[in-house]
Amino acid sequence: MRIALFDHYRIGIVDGTSVADITDVVDSRWHGTPYVINELIEHFDELREPLRAALASAPTQALADVTLLPPLPRPGQLLAAPANYHAHVAEMTTSRYRPTSEQALRSPREVGFFVKAAGSISGPADPIELPALPGRAFHHEVELGVVIGRTARGIPAEQVADHIFGYVILLDLTLRTEGVRQEERTLRKSFETFTPIGPFLVTADEVADPGNLGLRLWVNDELRQQANTRDLIVGIGELIEQASNVVTLRPGDLYATGTPEGVGPIEVGDVVRAEIDGLGELSLPVVERGW
Ligand code: MN
Repeated sequence: MRIALFDHYRIGIVDGTSVADITDVVDSRWHGTPYVINELIEHFDELREPLRAALASAPTQALADVTLLPPLPRPGQLLAAPANYHAHVAEMTTSRYRPTSEQALRSPREVGFFVKAAGSISGPADPIELPALPGRAFHHEVELGVVIGRTARGIPAEQVADHIFGYVILLDLTLRTEGVRQEERTLRKSFETFTPIGPFLVTADEVADPGNLGLRLWVNDELRQQANTRDLIVGIGELIEQASNVVTLRPGDLYATGTPEGVGPIEVGDVVRAEIDGLGELSLPVVERGW
């Protein structure tokens, strides 16, 4: 299923160009709140049948007539893999924005994950807002985002698939600085709107092999990133195994698996467009932050 969150936190199942409103399958105390989707994810096993029944008579609208929200506005945790594609490690090694810490380019197998502020999440209808910070660059990173569906604590890689609810396109936007005056990574990646996700949350049963998905990103009409998740240095199973041995992962947590090569600057006036096979497309204008 392709799950959308739209208008005033309605949950929709997307079929082609229409969306069926199935919000009522979730306990009404969560209606009108961003947590309605976390509730659906947490109780999905018992809601599967009610959802199927509701779909038969659910009110349907054209997708073009609704406002899409980020499909998971409030992930409980937002974890992210550092450099996880060899060609991206190579480009950063020779970049003018090369990290001052040698550790920043080592594999997630050695250095683990980092954390982004969950408040950086935005959605398919939200522009990317750049703060006015002279002398700083802002880079795009397209990534496969993994949404946890069942509680995961200390699980081995081969059982990880049972704990995944689904997938989203995710952008891990990043402030980059030349030289030694580099801010903490958490700050550089946590500005509001620096984690666009969507357009939908696609359930795991619709993704035949998350380890073989093409990712593409354009700035305006220039293709900047084109890669495949088969080139991940550390695969999804091992990433989630590792994280689940640090902290319990819960339904509605989100893990960004790392970006491939081709990262580069975005500027006010650009349009950033990203695609991942089977997950749809995000197209976002870049604007100056108004606050
Ligand atoms: Mn990243």
